[in-house]
Formats: sequence, structure tokens, C-alpha cells
Amino acid sequence: MSQKKKLVVVGSVAIDWVITPVSEREESVGGAATYFAMAASHHTAVDLVGVVGKDFPEHALQDLRTAGVGLEGLEVIEDGLTFRWKGRYHENMNQRDTLETHLNCFEQFEPKLPESYREAELLFLANIQPSLQLQVLEQMKTRPRLVGLDTMNLWIDVASDDLRAVVSKVDVLTINEEEALQLTGATSLLAAAREIRELGPKILVIKRGEYGALLFGPGSEELFAAPAIPLEKVDDPTGAGDCFAGGFMGYLSTAETLDGPTLRRAVIWGSVMASFCVQGFSYDRLRDLDRAQIDARYKAFVDLTSFV
Ligand code: AMP
Repeated sequence: MSQKKKLVVVGSVAIDWVITPVSEREESVGGAATYFAMAASHHTAVDLVGVVGKDFPEHALQDLRTAGVGLEGLEVIEDGLTFRWKGRYHENMNQRDTLETHLNCFEQFEPKLPESYREAELLFLANIQPSLQLQVLEQMKTRPRLVGLDTMNLWIDVASDDLRAVVSKVDVLTINEEEALQLTGATSLLAAAREIRELGPKILVIKRGEYGALLFGPGSEELFAAPAIPLEKVDDPTGAGDCFAGGFMGYLSTAETLDGPTLRRAVIWGSVMASFCVQGFSYDRLRDLDRAQIDARYKAFVDLTSFV
């Protein structure tokens, strides 16, 4: 009998070329699902659905396995190439330009969820074509306790109908500030949040980079603001949003309820994992973390935000 999965993620698994104002890495293992899984694995058992080509490095598969990430749902295409993304950060590291996107093996990919993933308790549809996110959702045998979604500007531009279809079916959307405005055409975050929640998700997290995150929900009037922890040095912001989602969903998969206080703690756990992510290239810093370092960072967030 297959065992029911705690948390399943589908999304890009990638080889990135990252250029920052001070440094560059040409073959940086990335992808939304990779970052998500490396972050979530510090909280819970996580299984990954995606596809890579023959060029995906064996050491990265080993890192994922060592972190306890289930790879039964990761297809390896022997005559294909891995998804590749190239981006350059601006001087302030808050903004970046996408220089190249090559879908490669994602172009023909038809996700087939292993049987044991179809009753997962929590499902996260990390960034990838919205049509693939929909296909994964449709393969679930039972409705997960919580379905989360992330996306990006490219899909708002080129796949807006599919994206709206998938947004209408999820419980949580995590999205960047600029993308929330772009998706809705609103000029303020409050108006964007209201419109997005009318589309479907009861819970919305708007990510604001070094300025933290805003949580809307679960109640119609509930709003929570979390800072990002000030860091003296950021090496590579790539994947921060996915690590946020990994910390957020990973924590929720261990929680009994999904009430307001639990979601607020989840936002802090998301912020903790994002703060580690940016302190190294790729998932390097996340791979090397121990429990004491993670707990100390959570405490630093508590100290940063507590007042009487
Ligand atoms: P983030 O910095 O959280 O937005 O995520 C960065 C990751 O997203 C990188 O590792 C990229 O490989 C991946 N990525 C970039 N563009 C796309 C795309 N169009 N679809 C899916 N993943 C993407």
C-alpha cells in the first residue's frame, strides 16, 4: 500500500545563469520546485514533480535526496535539456531582468503524478506554465487540505486565461508585489488583494522582497505584515520567493489548524527560509543549515517584531 504524502510540489527544476552586481554563476542549480523543496524539507517530508534533461547534474539530485526530497515524480529525459533561465540583478538587488528563458524539456512535459502523490495532504503548484499546474491539480484523487500556487510575470503576459483558471481553484496564492498589480491592473496593493481574493484564493501572500511580506486572510478583514530580516550582505536573491513558499507550506503541513495565528507563524517561517536563501548562490546555504541555526533565525524575527 502506498503511503499518503504530506506535501507535494510541482514546478520548474532548472539550471540558471545568475548575474549579480558583484558576482556571477553560470551553471547554478535552481528552479522554483528545487528551491521550494530544499526549504520545505527542513520542516516536513516533501515530494517533487518535475522534469530535467541529461544535463542536470547528478550532485544536485544527490543534494535533494540527502535533504529527504522524494524524487519519484521527477522525470529524467535522456535526450532532452533541462529548463534554463538567465537573469541579471540591478545594483540594488531588488529588481532583475530576465535575459533568457528556455523551456526545453518543459515544452513537451506531461506531468504524471505517482499514485501515492494523488492523495497528498498539501499541494504546492510552484512557478511553471499554468497549464501544467492545472494538469497536476486535475490528477488529485482527493482534494488536499491546502493547495498553494505561485506564478510570475511571464505567465501573466502569455497564459493569462490558464493562469486565472488555476488561481480560481487554489486556497493560497503567493505572488510578488509587481505581479499582483500586473495581474489585476490595480494601482494599490489593497485593491489588488481584494480583486485576487475575489478570483478564488482565501489566503493571499504578497511578497515584497527586502521589505517583507503581507498576508491577507483567512478572514476577509485579516491583514498581517512581516518584515524581512535586515542582512548586511545578499549574495543571490534568486529563489527567495520559492523558499518563502517552502517555509510557509512546510510549516503548515505540520500544523493542526489553518487559523489566523498559524498562518502568521507560517509567514515568519517563510521569511526565515527566504533570508537564508539569499545568503548564498543556488540552494547552497539551505543545504548546509542545521536546526539550531534555523531556530535562532526564527527567534531573531520574533525579537525584531515584538513590542509592547
Ligand atoms: P524566484 O527568484 O523566487 O522568482 O525564482 C527563481 C527561479 O525561478 C529560478 O531558479 C528560475 O529557474 C525559475 N524561473 C524563472 N523563470 C521561470 C518560468 N518562466 N517558469 C518557471 N520557473 C522560472
